[in-house]
This record gives sequence, structure tokens and C-alpha cells, in this order.
Amino acid sequence: MSVLVVGSVALDSVETPFGKADEVIGGSGTFFAASASHFTPVQLVGVVGNDYPVDKLEPLRARHVDLSGLERAEGESFRWRGRYRHDLNAAETLETRLGVFSQFRPKIPQAFRQAPFVFLANIDPRLQLEVLKQVERPRLVACDTMNFWIESRRSDLIELMKHVDVLLLNDGEARQLTEHNNLVKAARWILDRGPKYVVIKKGEHGAFMFTASTVFFAPAYPLEDVFDPTGAGDSFAGGFIGYLAQRGKLDEAHFRRAVVYGSTMGSFAVERFSIQRLLEIGPDDIRKRLDAFRQLVAFEEDMPA
Ligand code: AMP
Repeated sequence: MSVLVVGSVALDSVETPFGKADEVIGGSGTFFAASASHFTPVQLVGVVGNDYPVDKLEPLRARHVDLSGLERAEGESFRWRGRYRHDLNAAETLETRLGVFSQFRPKIPQAFRQAPFVFLANIDPRLQLEVLKQVERPRLVACDTMNFWIESRRSDLIELMKHVDVLLLNDGEARQLTEHNNLVKAARWILDRGPKYVVIKKGEHGAFMFTASTVFFAPAYPLEDVFDPTGAGDSFAGGFIGYLAQRGKLDEAHFRRAVVYGSTMGSFAVERFSIQRLLEIGPDDIRKRLDAFRQLVAFEEDMPA
């Protein structure tokens, strides 16, 4: 089943302890699409300016990402500049230039309005709400956000939460949004406001998934070299939603596996700058890393009888 994603399509400039990348392909929608396309067809809606190197998105089209909902507008593309110091879990935003995003009104093409799975990638919550008004009863709506929007659009975000099934966010964002330091309390706060599932990611320390009655945890894959964490969250979401859309089942067992698929895809994204690694890998790489995940948490009980 296809996934509709609405998100940023950006030019990222990133500095990590291992190198620098200038104006590379990035954006929440782009990372999500590159990741989810390993599981299911993806329809990407967003906007770029007339300065965007759209030819660099061709590899996505080749991976069955439908780009017909990507608008080209007069003006500058969305640009994000960030830095990671030694704590690779925390991005420091140096600059956000909304460019054509500041005037963007998402228009979901008629052909995408019945998408069964919808991912509202990290953009202005007002735009995320506008998307929901245009789609026809999706089976699952998931959304992401970040500190930038929690600070500037808090009430819109809380309104949006009433209409989403799954909220994915990192631990810092969960604390900031809920004003609870304890993640169990933070999850409860979110579950009380609409979502049936909340996934709280903790970077290299793994991810929790909470429902009203269950908690599940999956570790992050212990990579020896994390090169650039940018896009890990969106790639996680791409694996998570992409897997659910591929299988078409929404029970707890599938959701738990989706967390592991999410962790798997996040672990690939951070091995290179931009979406590079997500474009290189294939089904065998994904399968091998899933196996490695299983090994990571496998143990046998030897409780005395
Ligand atoms: P993450 O998966 O959380 O590391 O997301 C990284 C991507 O989010 C980068 O490629 C950025 O272009 C994009 N991004 C950063 N800030 C924003 C923002 N305020 N709104 C939308 N997308 C953003």
C-alpha cells in the first residue's frame, strides 16, 4: 500500500566531527521517502525553489517515489544549517531559512488523496493540519515534529495531535512538548491528547513505543562509525511506516516490528551525508542488519527449575 508524505525538501549544510557537507539534498520529506521506498511506493508532496537541483532527486524517482506532487515555486529553497559536536544525538541548528516554505500551501494531488498511509513529516503543524483536510480517511496517520515548531506553533501542534494515530519524536522534543522530564509521563501526556501510539526516539540509545497499555523498546544498532546523524529520525519514520504499509496490518506485533525496521533504516542513514547511504543499500543489507538486531537482543534464560 502506498504512503503519502508531506514534508520539507531541503538543501542542508552540515558540520560533524568527521567532515562538512554544503547544500546537499536533505529535508524531512526527502529522507522519509528515500527510506520508505525500500518497502512500498511513496508519494512525496512538498515545495522547492527555482534554485533546487531537482536532477539530484532522480534516484528517488527511480526508486518509485512519485514526485508529481513536488511543487516548484519562484524563490529560494528551504535551507537548514546544522552542526553536531561530540554528542551526535543533539543537532544544533545554526540557521533555518524557510524560503518558499513560508508561502507553501500543500495541495494534495487528486490521485494521492486516498493514500491509506499518511506521514506528516516535520513541517509547520498548520500545514500538517491542512494536509489532513485534503485526504480521505487514511488507515493510519503518523506525524513528526521538532523543537522549532514546538516553540513557535505549540497550540497548532496540540490541535494536530487530536487527528493523528502515531506521533514520533525524540526524547528532548517529548520533554519540551509535554513539560515532563520523565518519558513515561511524557508519553502518557501525549496519549491523552489523541495519538494511540507514541514513539520516543533516544538517538544512539534506541527507541520506546508506548500505547495506553504497553511499552516496547528497541535498541539502536551500535555502529562503530556514525558519520552524520541528520535524517536519522525521518529515516526511522520511513522504515516504521514503510514496513506497516507494506504489510498492511496494524496489530501490536506489526507495530513492534515496525520499531525495529525504523531503527534499522535510521542506522543506515547516519553512515553517510545526505540520503547517500539510503540510495546505496538493498534488501540484503536491510535483512542482514535486521538479523544483527535480533542477535543484539537474543539471550537464553537459565532460571533454576
Ligand atoms: P532529522 O531526521 O530529525 O535529523 O531531520 C533532518 C532534516 O530535517 C534535515 O534534512 C532538515 O532539512 C530538516 N529540517 C530541519 N529543520 C526543519 C524545520 N524547521 N522544518 C522542516 N524540516 C526541517
